[in-house]
This record gives sequence, C-alpha cells and structure tokens, in this order.
Amino acid sequence: MKGFGIVVYWLGMVAESVIRMPYNKARSKAKLPAASTTLEKLLLNLLLVGMGLLPLLYSVTSWLSFADYELGTVWSGVGAGLMLLAVLIFWRSHTDLGTNWSPTLEIQTEHTLVSGGVYGLVRHPMYTSQLVWCLAQPLLLQNWLAGGLDVVVFLVFFFYRAGAEEKMMEEHFGLRYREYMGKTKRLIPWVW
Ligand code: SAH
Repeated sequence: MKGFGIVVYWLGMVAESVIRMPYNKARSKAKLPAASTTLEKLLLNLLLVGMGLLPLLYSVTSWLSFADYELGTVWSGVGAGLMLLAVLIFWRSHTDLGTNWSPTLEIQTEHTLVSGGVYGLVRHPMYTSQLVWCLAQPLLLQNWLAGGLDVVVFLVFFFYRAGAEEKMMEEHFGLRYREYMGKTKRLIPWVW
C-alpha cells in the first residue's frame, strides 16, 4: 500500500498547487506593511519541511525507512477520503476569500472582510483544510517523520498564526471583526 499512499498524497499536493496558482498571480496589489514576523516565516518554512521535504524523501529514497510503520488497507482508504476532503475545503476557502488571500499576514489596500461561504462557519477554513490534511498524511505516508511530524509543526504554526492573524484583522476592521468572531468558530465548525 506504500505506493497507493504516495500517489494519493502527491495528487493532493498537485491539486492544491493548481487551486492556489491564480491567487498567487493576483498578489501584485499594493499592501499595507505586513504584520508577519521572523518566527512566522520560520514556522512556514518548517511546514514546508513537514509537508514537502520529508514526504519527498520518503517517496523517492529509503533513508527514512527506519521510522516506517504499517497500517491496514482500510486506513489508507480513510487517508484518501480525508485528503479529498482537505482539497475540497482548500478549494472552497480560496474561492470565498478571493484576492484577500496572502501567504503571510498582511492587509491589502482593497481588503474586504469575508464572512460568507465557509468563512461563515469558521474563521480559518484554510487551516481547517490543513488540519484535515495533517490527519490524512500519517495514514497515507506510514512513517513517523514523513507522515507524523507535520501535525506537530502545524499545531504550533496554527496557535501562533491564528492569534496574530485575528489581532491584525481586529485592529484593521475593529467592531466588524469582533462581531464576526462572535458568530463563528475558530477552526472546527460548531465545535471550536
Ligand atoms: N486564516 C484564513 C486565511 C488564510 S490566508 C483561513 O485559514 O482561511 C491569510 C490572509 O487572509 C491574512 O493575511 C488575512 O489578511 C486574510 N484574512 C483572514 N481572514 C479573513 C477574512 N475573514 N476576510 C478577509 N481576509 C481575511
């Protein structure tokens, strides 16, 4: 099942890259000074290691085989289902957030507060999608480093970034953002 998991994982990666491409292109608009910090950039790079580099090493070399584990076929199937869900949430949040999207924390000159679509359910649907991805990853890539480490990095990233992001949004949109916070959950619809 190693091959199946690897194929599904990289298909997910290709799908998300294709979804993101037009939003990356639309990013030349003027912005207010970015609120991102060195720590945030470091955490983003660690995410690239957890999501990209370690899975790549697992897929094309046997260097990480000392950290392999084996789960049944059913778990690979569950992983594939979760990966599909992650990609769907990723796609919906991009269509809803539109050109307000940015990889780092920043407000653009024509920034609008989005509170509809998936943003009516949670304030961070892209991070929800990433959480679902982190659940799929250890089921598809059955290795403690290539599959398991990403969730740890993601959780550190999330708690740091979501707090800073909400503070930035609140400073910019004031009462409107506070009202929006009162109506939505942070990461998991109806729960938290
Ligand atoms: N945290 C969100 C967005 C990630 S993209 C999510 O997980 O879906 C990061 C950028 O989105 C931030 O720089 C911020 O400017 C912008 N952003 C976050 N929430 C927003 C909202 N409700 N409306 C408009 N822009 C938002």
